[in-house]
Amino acid sequence: MKIGFIGLGIMGKPMSINLLKAGYELTVYDINKTSVDEVVAAGAASTNTSAKVAEQSDIIITMLPNSPHVKNAVMGESGVLEGAKSGSILIDMSSIAPIASQEIEKACAEKGVHMIDAPVSGGEPKAVDGTLSIMVGGNKEIYEQVRDILLCMGASAVYCGTIGAGNTTKLANQVVVALNIAACAEAFTLAKKAGVDPESVFNAIKGGLAGSTVMNAKVPMMMENNFKPGFKIDLHIKDLNNALDTAHEVGAPLPLTSQVMEMFQTLHADHCGGDDHSALAKYYAKISGTVIGD
Ligand code: NAD
Repeated sequence: MKIGFIGLGIMGKPMSINLLKAGYELTVYDINKTSVDEVVAAGAASTNTSAKVAEQSDIIITMLPNSPHVKNAVMGESGVLEGAKSGSILIDMSSIAPIASQEIEKACAEKGVHMIDAPVSGGEPKAVDGTLSIMVGGNKEIYEQVRDILLCMGASAVYCGTIGAGNTTKLANQVVVALNIAACAEAFTLAKKAGVDPESVFNAIKGGLAGSTVMNAKVPMMMENNFKPGFKIDLHIKDLNNALDTAHEVGAPLPLTSQVMEMFQTLHADHCGGDDHSALAKYYAKISGTVIGD
């Protein structure tokens, strides 16, 4: 079974390395040659187009920023569909708009290529450990054929429905994460401004109902004033844009998401788009005059 991997960024690099560790033969491509060199050093072969990756692979995985990047890498010039054999399987693990997954799957089907969407949650540490949470949309039989491959990169893979359902699930995840980070930034700014040590607040409440994976991962970053990504604000803006577009199409208002989106937009305008999304704490610092991590 030969696997191709396209997109070797913060997530794709460790995910591809985990496939190598599991013993799969891998051909990789990224427009950034430095990332390619690192995965080649770990044992992969490389080529210089997505089409050539597809030519040499039975299964092709994409891990790219957003819908236009995946469309370009799959349907564009020298893209996957120029090289893919009929019967091969494309697994798009990027977080993109569900409607884009549906469009790409249609183009794949016309060439006899199967496609599932399988975005992930967990961030870089879980990509490194191979313990990502994977949410899958598409033909269930195709999913079952590639489940073992997914579980080399993730601790769980859950089938959510037809094509695009993985990305709809991921949008729900991103709404919960964004709102939870904003709630943490708001609450810990309140505590600091009221003169209570944020670390004591964290230790007191993390085991109660307010505790969460988000709180455990992001509040320590806020307390240390460390906003190295992680997950960049600009990528979260991309996800919330996809969430708002999808929500408006199906008639599901997202009032809280809209509020947090504007906070992220404020930070982006203030040149913080490359910061970790925990930098929502900086937004609260601006409006309160109090820094959690002082
Ligand atoms: P990244 O920007 O670090 O990596 C993207 C990679 O894609 C880059 O190396 C870039 O050079 C490459 N690329 C872009 N266009 C290309 C093309 N046409 N052909 C080949 N390579 C191309 O992004 P990331 O953080 O790895 O995220 C990838 C996806 O995973 C995104 O959809 C993101 O939302 C999602 N995600 C990220 C995290 C996280 O914590 N970083 C967590 C879960 C999901």
